[in-house]
Amino acid sequence: MPDAPADARAVDRLRALVRIPTIARPTSGPGPRADRDTFERFIATLPELYPRVHATLTRERLGTDPAANAAPLSPLAPGPGPGYTLLYRWPGSDPTGARTPTVLMAHYDVVAATDDGWRHPPFAAELVDHEGEPVVWGRGAIDDKGALAAILEAVERLLDAGVTPRHDVLLLFGHDEEVAGTGARAVVAALRERGIRPSLVVDEGGAIVEGVFPGLHEPAAMVGVTEKGITTLRLRVDQHGGHAASPPPLAATERLALALVRLNRRPARSRLDATTRTMIRTLGGRVRGPLGAVFRHVGLTAPLLVRVFRRRGAETTALLRTTRAVTELRAGHAANALPESAEATVNIRIAPGESVAQAVGDVRAAIGDDAVTLTVLEPSEPSPISPAHGPAWDDLTAAIDDVAPGLLVSPYVMMQASDARFLTAISDHVYRFTPFRLSAEERACLHARDERIRVRSFLEGVRVYEALLRRR
Ligand SMILES: [Zn+2]
Repeated sequence: MPDAPADARAVDRLRALVRIPTIARPTSGPGPRADRDTFERFIATLPELYPRVHATLTRERLGTDPAANAAPLSPLAPGPGPGYTLLYRWPGSDPTGARTPTVLMAHYDVVAATDDGWRHPPFAAELVDHEGEPVVWGRGAIDDKGALAAILEAVERLLDAGVTPRHDVLLLFGHDEEVAGTGARAVVAALRERGIRPSLVVDEGGAIVEGVFPGLHEPAAMVGVTEKGITTLRLRVDQHGGHAASPPPLAATERLALALVRLNRRPARSRLDATTRTMIRTLGGRVRGPLGAVFRHVGLTAPLLVRVFRRRGAETTALLRTTRAVTELRAGHAANALPESAEATVNIRIAPGESVAQAVGDVRAAIGDDAVTLTVLEPSEPSPISPAHGPAWDDLTAAIDDVAPGLLVSPYVMMQASDARFLTAISDHVYRFTPFRLSAEERACLHARDERIRVRSFLEGVRVYEALLRRR
C-alpha cells in the first residue's frame, strides 16, 4: 500500500473514477447508446474528489451528448446539444500567456467490459496485491482515467503548494475518444475562435516501456510526435442476382475475393520515415555491439533495417508502412441464390509523409479491376510532426528527467489514432505521452481484459505532470 497519506488519497480518487462505468458507445448505428446519467455522475464526482481544482479553475462543458443519436459531423464542426467534453482553465500569473497555454489532455470514456474473464471485476476498482505490489484493477485504470486522475492530482497538489504557472493551463477531458467522437473537435473549434494557440499539448500515447526495441535492455519514455493517418475504404461489387444453379464465371463474391487476394499480395512500400530514423538513432545509441552500430548509422543501413523490421513481426512492420486490414465482409442473402452485391471494409493506417489519396490510389492499382468500386469513409491524414527539440519538447523531457533521472526519451510515430490529432490544427507542439511505466503484459490489457495499473507507476505519472506544470 502507498505510504504517504497524500499518495493513498490519490489512489482512492483514481479508484472512485474507475468505479463509474462511463462506457463509450457509438452515437449512430444499431446498439445501445452511452448512458447519460453515468457520464453526469462522473462529471459531478470530480469536484468532490478534487476540491481545490474546482475552486480555482473554471470548467466548461463542450462537445456532444454521449447518448444523442447524432449524425457524424464534419471535421472541426462543433457538436450540437449539451456538452460532455470538459475544458478547464487555470489562469497563469502572466496574462499574456493566456493565448499560448499548456494543454493536458485525457479522456474519461472507456471501452466496454463485462465481468466475463476478468480476474477482478472491471468496474470494482479493487486495490489488489499483484506480483508483489499494489495494483488498481479495472477498465480505464490506464486508458485513460489513469492519466485524467494523475493530471487532476498534479494540479491539486500544485494548488496546495501555492504554485501558479506562468502561462494558462487548460485541461481537456474528452468523453468520446474511444468512438472517434467529436468532443475534442468541438473544443478545438472553440479555442480557435478565441485565438488560442497552445504552446504545448500532451495527450495519451507512448509510455515508459521496456523490451520494445531490439538489443535495448533499459526502459525508454516513448513520446509520439506524430500519428498515422486513418481511413476506411468500402470495396463493393454489384451484380445481377439469379439462381445459383447457373452461375456466371465470376460471381460478385468471387470477384471481391480475388480483389482482396491481389490487394494482400501488393502491400504498400516499406521505408523508414524521418521520425522513425530519429527513434532508431536515439534508442540504438544505447545498444552495444554491431547491432548498435547498425542503428546509429541508420542513414546507410536503412535498407537492411527495413528487412530486419519486416521479419520481426506485425508491430515493427507497421512502423514501416501504410497498413491495410480487411475488417468486414458482407455478401449474399440465401444459400441457393447468387449474391447481388459483395462488400469488404478495409481499415487503412497511413504512414507519415504519405496521404489518404496516395493510399487509396495504391489500393486501386493493386486491385486493378474497375468492377470493384471504392468509397472512402472518414479520411484523416497523418498528423503533422511536432519537433523533438525546442522549449516545449525540452520542458516535457526535463519533467520526465526530474522524476526519472537519466531515463532515455525518444520520439516515435504513434500507430493508433487519438484525439491529439485534432489539436495539431491549433498547435505545432502536440506530444502523445502517458507518463506511466507499463510492461508488455499491461499494455496488452488495454482495450482487453484485466486492465490495471501499478500504484507505483500511477504515482510516478502524477509527479511527471506536476514537474511539467512547474516548468510552465
Ligand atoms: Zn485512450
